[in-house]
Amino acid sequence: MSRHQPIRVVKGMRDILPPDSALWGRVEHVAREVFRAYAYQEIRTPIVEVTELFARGVGQDTDIVTKEMYTFDDRDGSSLTLRPEATASVVRSYIENRMHERPGVKKLFYMGPMFRRERPQKGRYRQFYQIGAEAIGSESPTVDAEIIEMLFVMLNRLNLQGASMLVNSVGCAQCRPVFIERLRNELEKIKDQLCLDCQRRTVTNPLRVLDCKVPEDQPLIESLPVLSGLLCEGCKQHFDEVQSYLNDRKIPFVVSPRMVRGLDYYTRTTFEIVHGNLGAQNALLGGGRYDGLSEDLGGPPAPGIGFSIGEDRFILALGSADNAESSVDLYIAWMGEAAFRHAAELARELRSHNVAVEVASDPVKLKKSLEIASRLGAPYVLIVGDDEIAQARYALKNLSNSEQQTVSREELFQRFAGPAS
Ligand code: AMP
Repeated sequence: MSRHQPIRVVKGMRDILPPDSALWGRVEHVAREVFRAYAYQEIRTPIVEVTELFARGVGQDTDIVTKEMYTFDDRDGSSLTLRPEATASVVRSYIENRMHERPGVKKLFYMGPMFRRERPQKGRYRQFYQIGAEAIGSESPTVDAEIIEMLFVMLNRLNLQGASMLVNSVGCAQCRPVFIERLRNELEKIKDQLCLDCQRRTVTNPLRVLDCKVPEDQPLIESLPVLSGLLCEGCKQHFDEVQSYLNDRKIPFVVSPRMVRGLDYYTRTTFEIVHGNLGAQNALLGGGRYDGLSEDLGGPPAPGIGFSIGEDRFILALGSADNAESSVDLYIAWMGEAAFRHAAELARELRSHNVAVEVASDPVKLKKSLEIASRLGAPYVLIVGDDEIAQARYALKNLSNSEQQTVSREELFQRFAGPAS
C-alpha cells in the first residue's frame, strides 16, 4: 500500500464522534444512576479471555462460538479470544474471586466493547458496546421481576418510546432435554427442507434451530412444537410467578414461546426488548436466567439472571439529533496578545467553576470567531480586546438572537458560574 494512502478504520468497526459521543455519555450516566438505585455495583473484566471460557460458557454450537469470535494464539501458544459478550466473564470472575462466600445476591453491572465477526449492517457492528447487569446467587422469581423493572426504569428515564418486551421460559436441566428430544424427532422429519446450518443443528443442538434467521426456514420453524407445554412443575411455577410480579409492576410484556435466544447458558426466564426504529436488527437488548452456568464453568451452584443492552442500537433508537447537547457554554474571542493573556486567565477561572469554555486558538477576525463559535454550538461569545480590558467590561454576544450587551467581570461570573458560594 502506498505510504500516502490514508489508513481506514477496520471493517465493521467505527468511531463514535461528537456530538453523538455526548449522547453515549448521557446514556451511560443515566444507566449508572439507575444501577446505583437498585444496588448494583460496577465490575470491569478484561476484554480478552481464554477461548475455552466462551466455548464452555456461551456454547460450542452457537453462532457466536462457531463463526463470530476473534480468536488468536498468544505467544505462548494459549488460545485467547476478544470477548463476544460479558456474562461468561462476570461468572468466571464471580467464581475466581469467591463472591459466593459473601451473603446475599451479588449484583454487578458492566459497560464496554464486545467483539463479534458478524456481517456488518445498520445496527450490527464487529465492535459494539453493551451495558449489562447480572444478579447472581438466587433463583427466586422476585429477582427476575426486579431486574426487568430496573430495565424499564432505565428506558423510561431515557425517554425511549416504542419498545416492547417479549418473555419466555426455556425450562431447566430436567424438562429441557425432554423437549429437545421431541424437537429432534420433529426436525428429523423436515430436516431436508431446512438450511444447511439447521441440518447440522438438528444433530448437534436442535434448540438453536429456533433462532435461525433464514427467511425460508421460518414457516417450518413456526410449525415446530413449543416448550411451554412441557415445562416441569418447578419451571412452570417460576414462570407464572415472574409474570404475576411483572403484572403487579404494570410492566407490559408478550409471551413469545419460540424465543430461545442465541446463547446456550439460558435456563427458565428469557426476555428480549425489540424496537420499531431499528429495521432488521430490531433486538435492543436481551437477557435471561443462567442457573447452571457457574457449574458449567467449574464453580459452585450460583443461579443468576442478567441482561445486556446493545448500546449502539439503543442510541439509534433514541435518535441522536433530538438528544444532542452543546458541549460549549461560552466562546472567547480576543484581539491582540494582551487580550489573549487576559482571555486565557478568564477561561481558567470560569473552567474551575465547571463552565465549558473554548478560547480562540489564533488571532482571527471577529466574523470568523463568531462562525467557529456557532459551529461549536456555543450560545454566547465573549469579546476581549484592549478597550475591554481597560474598562474591565466585556462585550457578550448572544448567538441565538445576535444581541450584544456589555457585562462586568462579576456579571459574567454570575451568569455562567452561578452565585459565588
Ligand atoms: P446478546 O449478547 O446476543 O444477547 O445480545 C444482546 C444485545 O446486544 C442485542 O440485543 C443487541 O442489541 C446487541 N448486539 C449483539 N450483537 C451486536 C452487534 N454485532 N452489533 C451491535 N449490537 C449487537
